[in-house]
Amino acid sequence: MRQLEVRTVFAPDQLRRRLEEAGAQIVDDGGAMHTVRLVAADGDWTAVVETLARFVVHEWSAAYIAHRLAVRHRYLDADEQAHVAALVRKALEQVWAETTDTTVWAETAKAVIGQAALRGTRVELDGVARFQMRDFVRQVEAAVEECVGHYLADREFEQFVLMLRLMMEAQPASGGELHLFCADGKAWVCTPSGEPVCDPDVLAAAAEVSEDGEVNCEDLAMSILITKAPAHVVIHDVAGAQPWPSFTETVERVFIGRASRCTGCSACTQLSAARPGEASLS
Ligand SMILES: [Zn+2]
Repeated sequence: MRQLEVRTVFAPDQLRRRLEEAGAQIVDDGGAMHTVRLVAADGDWTAVVETLARFVVHEWSAAYIAHRLAVRHRYLDADEQAHVAALVRKALEQVWAETTDTTVWAETAKAVIGQAALRGTRVELDGVARFQMRDFVRQVEAAVEECVGHYLADREFEQFVLMLRLMMEAQPASGGELHLFCADGKAWVCTPSGEPVCDPDVLAAAAEVSEDGEVNCEDLAMSILITKAPAHVVIHDVAGAQPWPSFTETVERVFIGRASRCTGCSACTQLSAARPGEASLS
């Protein structure tokens, strides 16, 4: 029989369960929450060390992700933290599925834990992870920061869309259909017959709030759409790939269920032909 004392700040209860599944006997530790004392038969020892290694890569890292979010991103509420933690684990699992990283990490953990267990009767899993598997912990930390960044950008976009939608819902609905055209940094709104929609009040209001009196054509097009609150918006987008969230994506989200994309019309053909030079319907 062999004995071992394992310390882990993260997920000690899950570790106890995993070790028991591997054939180890957990010794009553008198309430030391983060210390797991175990006894295992020589024949089960390899399984115990492998279990410890897998635990670090999976359960330990999952608990570490939650801890990292709670400490460094406490402005996120509990639900948001749980949501981002799930995103981080999914992102890591995807990276791990495409690489041999987890196998390498588990082998490193196995070697380090095996040596530590041979030297003495105590293994500090937090120390093993943070110092001997530093690259692994760095990968986890980087995934946390990246997912938080994406989540905050998404949240900001959702709030922006919600604000625009509330502004639109406050307008009397005009019914009918408007067409939005986007090409080469320009955006404009037309009636179904192709007449440009220009609202002097909207233009004046937009100029008033802009810093230099110059009105961004996308802001102006959005203002017109929101003010007119049409029942349907057809988006003619020949602007090509734009960084997320593109103007047309924003319009689609604001007019969710009320917007559709043109799948090909004579105006789009003309605009495409005119690229990359002057694009105009006139
Ligand atoms: Zn079109």
